[in-house]
Amino acid sequence: MTARPLKQRLFSRIEDARDDLVALTRDLIRIPTVNPPGDAYAACGAFIGRRLADSGFTVEYLRAEGGFGDSDRYPRTNVIARIEGSTPGVCVHFNSHIDVVAPGAGWSVDPFAAEVRDGRIYGRGACDMKGGLAASIVAAEALLAAWPEFPGAIEISGTVDEETGGYAGVAWLAERGYFSKPRVDYVIIPEPLNKDCVCLGHRGVWWAEIEVRGRIAHGSMPFLGTSAIRGMGAFLDRLERDLYPALNQRRTAMPVIPEGARFSTLNLNSIHGGLEEGSDGFPSALVADSCRLVLDRRYLIEESEGEVRREIVDLLEAVRAEQPEFRYELRDLWSVPPAMTDADSDLVRALDRGIEQVLGRRARHVASPGTYDQKHVQRVGHLKDCVAYGPGILDLAHQPDEYVGIDDMVQSAQVMAAATVDLLAGAGDAA
Ligand SMILES: [Zn+2]
Repeated sequence: MTARPLKQRLFSRIEDARDDLVALTRDLIRIPTVNPPGDAYAACGAFIGRRLADSGFTVEYLRAEGGFGDSDRYPRTNVIARIEGSTPGVCVHFNSHIDVVAPGAGWSVDPFAAEVRDGRIYGRGACDMKGGLAASIVAAEALLAAWPEFPGAIEISGTVDEETGGYAGVAWLAERGYFSKPRVDYVIIPEPLNKDCVCLGHRGVWWAEIEVRGRIAHGSMPFLGTSAIRGMGAFLDRLERDLYPALNQRRTAMPVIPEGARFSTLNLNSIHGGLEEGSDGFPSALVADSCRLVLDRRYLIEESEGEVRREIVDLLEAVRAEQPEFRYELRDLWSVPPAMTDADSDLVRALDRGIEQVLGRRARHVASPGTYDQKHVQRVGHLKDCVAYGPGILDLAHQPDEYVGIDDMVQSAQVMAAATVDLLAGAGDAA
């Protein structure tokens, strides 16, 4: 068999499956897998499992028992389906998270009715990422039908909790070898990064809490105490004068989108100071003895977590050098190092070729401002060949009136199928 007719047959099969792809996406949206708390995971997993079992896959349900967030009321159930080809070879894995964020206010349609209008499917999770999950399922099914003697293996997973860190989902599975060689060679995550973009990775994250400690005193005699809020104010002033201008100069070579996220960023997530008001809303006359600040620092692949932490400590120490009574504690809350797959890896090149073949234009390489499950595949599974590629517009994720375009889903399913053909056939261009 020659590969070119194979791809042409695949593309027309996927085009013919358009109605099925729409129906599948709508069915998935109608299962309201809202996280938190993690509703309807078992139902959604069973739905995906039944579909793939009917297509010849061997299906495993893996509940992260005792994992983060798992309970009998809200079981963290993941589904992994695998099908072996006619001869041994590499395994291509499509991983989608099944959870969606709460719909929130401002919808003009029912967020779980999956209405179709003007070539789009509307609903919570339409683009992030049930449209991508459905596209990967239809792509794999078309490949099995068009190429029954394919070599290697194909896997499709539906995993939980990506929106809350993925600890009972991809991280839990990766700890058990589900995202490592020799089981898996390539992982494609159909997150909504646009149908012509291959997402190579993401920036790093460091969350920390700073608590400035003061000394309590009567509010009418503040000179007898030490205000933690004024101490925090001095630190915030240092951030404005010294750190923000420096961060705005630091630009990464990674192709992060949007442009603003090419720079190092710092979000002051929250601040709490002084004693809480009583139930009547009336405050006590006190000097604040504590002020807490949560920092959300997103850092570049050119920076290290150690450097990022040290520059905060240096600023805190600079305040202390000026104000000897300034006392603070720094607590690390969470961190994820940056992740990036090589742009010239077989995986990226296979997707690049698929995009050219289907869309007739060059693929764009991008990186994500925030993290997603790729971090667990790389850090826990030690699998570098992992990227995000899927239909939908990233800006619509988590917004009211989220939608996914039907043409975009069809075309990205064709790209996924073409890339899978190349990866299964071998490193070279099978077309
Ligand atoms: Zn997502």
